[in-house]
Amino acid sequence: ICWSIRGGWHRPRVQPYGPIALDPAAAVLHYGQEIFEGIKAYRHADGSVHTFRPDQNGRRLQRSARRLALPELPVQYFIQSLRELIAVDGSWVPSGDDQSLYLRPFMFAKEAFLGVRPAQKVGYYLIASPAGAYFSGGVKPVTIWLSEDYARAGKGGTGAAKTGGNYAASLLPQSEAYENGCDQVVFLDADRNVEELGGMNVVFVYKDGTIVTPQSPSILEGITRDSILQLAKDRGHKVEAREVSLQEWRDGVASGDIVEVFACGTAAVVTPIGALKSAEFIDEQPIGELALSLREELTDIQYGRREDKHGWLVRLDA
Ligand code: PMP
Repeated sequence: ICWSIRGGWHRPRVQPYGPIALDPAAAVLHYGQEIFEGIKAYRHADGSVHTFRPDQNGRRLQRSARRLALPELPVQYFIQSLRELIAVDGSWVPSGDDQSLYLRPFMFAKEAFLGVRPAQKVGYYLIASPAGAYFSGGVKPVTIWLSEDYARAGKGGTGAAKTGGNYAASLLPQSEAYENGCDQVVFLDADRNVEELGGMNVVFVYKDGTIVTPQSPSILEGITRDSILQLAKDRGHKVEAREVSLQEWRDGVASGDIVEVFACGTAAVVTPIGALKSAEFIDEQPIGELALSLREELTDIQYGRREDKHGWLVRLDA
């Protein structure tokens, strides 16, 4: 499905999956002018197909567009593109526990030129792929590698946008994490405050029930994080988005003030963090009940097994 910006967004075109022809001078290949989103479609027990808070993804795509000097796609076109894809063949959405259709909307600069300036011709596309359970054999706590040498984003940079450059910067530290026997990498900002993992946000649970998630201008604000914090608030937890230093994390775990740490994002939903490892230390993390209980509540809403009190679901097949 493609829109192009020659005098505005054009009618979408659905075409069979295949290569995209690009001029070798296309701006995206040289200057990385591109953005994307990640969102899922879920099949409910009655066969209907729903997605989760697509207005939030649509708005985040617009914020990313602004930062990357790309045109903003109206949110209603964004949601329409999801519907049109499902209308082509609804059977692409698998049924069953933890099964979904992962939707990947993206926009990039197609214009061919070699000077450095924002492109005038861009395309918006949407592709999809069925996704099974993220964890085979149930959710397992992950081990996190602390990247001391690398940052994913800098002050005033593109950290809050969902753009390839941030992910390109995270690939080498992610390999370092694997080499050190870890599943994921956690990034700090220039002031040694906790930022996020390569593709998930971080949440801390304190002894008094307060839930804290790191806040900074360079964090990609996750829709899963926002939803989990809302569900926790509904349960009476105090919720805070604020700076959390690495020192606060390590001291909190050592003193028992922090009773649980977890990561969250669209792909894995919620996963407990079992250990934080660096070249200098390994901090085992306390494992609690809240992460998995919030995970269950959220997935119950997404799969239509529990009341959608906040009106988060949007039906795509009707
Ligand atoms: N941070 C990063 C860097 C991500 O790539 C993602 C996944 N989109 C998230 C956080 C979590 O965002 P969401 O909950 O919207 O998937």
